[in-house]
Amino acid sequence: MQRALEFVPPLSAAQPSLGWQTLIDLHDCETPHLDDVTWVRAAMLEAAVRAEATIVGERFHRFEPHGISGIVMIGESHLAVHIWPERKFAAIDVFTCNSALKTKAAAAYLTNMFAATCAKTLCFKRGEDTGEAVTDSATVPPGVVAMGPETGAGCDELYIDTDTESEGHWFVSRGTIAQRQTAFQKAEIVDLAAYGKALVLDGDMQSFESDEYMYHEALVQPAMCLHAAPRRVLIIGGGEGAVAREVLKHRSVERAVMVDIDGEVVALAREHLAGWHCGAFDDPRLSLIVGDGHAFVQSATEQFDVVVIDLVSSFDGGPAEALYTRDFYRCLKSRLSPGGVLVIQSMECHAGTWRDHARVRNNLAGLFAHMRSYQLFVPSYGCPWGFVIVSDEADPQAALPSAIDGVIEARGLREGLRFYDGRTHQGLFALPKDLRLLLGAA
Ligand code: SAM
Repeated sequence: MQRALEFVPPLSAAQPSLGWQTLIDLHDCETPHLDDVTWVRAAMLEAAVRAEATIVGERFHRFEPHGISGIVMIGESHLAVHIWPERKFAAIDVFTCNSALKTKAAAAYLTNMFAATCAKTLCFKRGEDTGEAVTDSATVPPGVVAMGPETGAGCDELYIDTDTESEGHWFVSRGTIAQRQTAFQKAEIVDLAAYGKALVLDGDMQSFESDEYMYHEALVQPAMCLHAAPRRVLIIGGGEGAVAREVLKHRSVERAVMVDIDGEVVALAREHLAGWHCGAFDDPRLSLIVGDGHAFVQSATEQFDVVVIDLVSSFDGGPAEALYTRDFYRCLKSRLSPGGVLVIQSMECHAGTWRDHARVRNNLAGLFAHMRSYQLFVPSYGCPWGFVIVSDEADPQAALPSAIDGVIEARGLREGLRFYDGRTHQGLFALPKDLRLLLGAA
């Protein structure tokens, strides 16, 4: 971003800005409609509606062999787009003289519609006259409030996690710490203004610095505390190392095997996510295997007291697909020692979004004497997250808070747990009525 080359001194002191410009770069747009002028026109018009702008005109044009330009004129100025379908890239700009316009809503809508993996926004004021002299043409102009990471200091981009075609979650990002295309997925570590660092795989948020402890304690500790003496533990996935951290808090554990398919994700976590693994990768009790969890379970002969599955959420495609099947769970059961406990991260789970969770339950149905769902609200996920726990030994939901607290005390874990205790355990298993009905859970 360059300053104007010529500086015209202000006629009078400090004039307020006249307008707000937002530039939105949408990268890796996965929508199949990028070169469809009718679809793009409809999306831009809807974005103007979502911004609560007054539409006064529009013009869209498709170029040969490909590419679209278009503009929606609004009473408050314009929304414009230029698309390079061959680059899966769309450059959008919104200019408005009315600060009340919902530009962020329009940006979030377009990011979602275009199915962009990465959205970078730059917002700045126009026409503002601060009365200050311009001395350095290389510095950032006054009024820049949000910038993409490539512009250096003061980074502030919008990071969008697209949950479904009609819903997403945007985060203000302070920049990208690391980014890698591995053999299996696109891995990024971003720094978010609200939640600190976050691991993102193929555009899906995995865990966040500020509240990963809630998720990881909830995933691991019920299974570990329900087992009388967990000595051998299998972890499948869990690339951040936080599942291993939670497992290794138990002194009874003699051996933990962690199988993650992506050595590059583990390497990124080792380097950048120390707050997650807390040195777990260097604990001599941990054996890290870089490989496919499915292949490992099929060929393993070892028995485990507790198995924790922390995989990317994916039923349809992706490296974890085969690990959400009934065949896999059947095979896994043969690797559990008598009295063993298996717990699985089982996706967003509430009365609006419960089908993926139900699929995990259906694939496990009847394989174990006890199957329970539990959930917690994770602030950074913006929704309740579900887990399925199974065992032939004891009903996980029936464990009394006093019994859980007794285990925590006896194992010297009280100081080391921030989220989980007996009352938390009871709360996790208290599913609301609507969800119980949908899942057919007692
Ligand atoms: N909490 C998470 C979520 O919300 O989806 C899961 C986090 S964890 C980072 C997911 C891990 O699963 C990644 O490190 C990924 O490499 C691993 N993974 C994916 N497919 C796998 C497979 N077939 N075998 C083992 N690990 C796998």
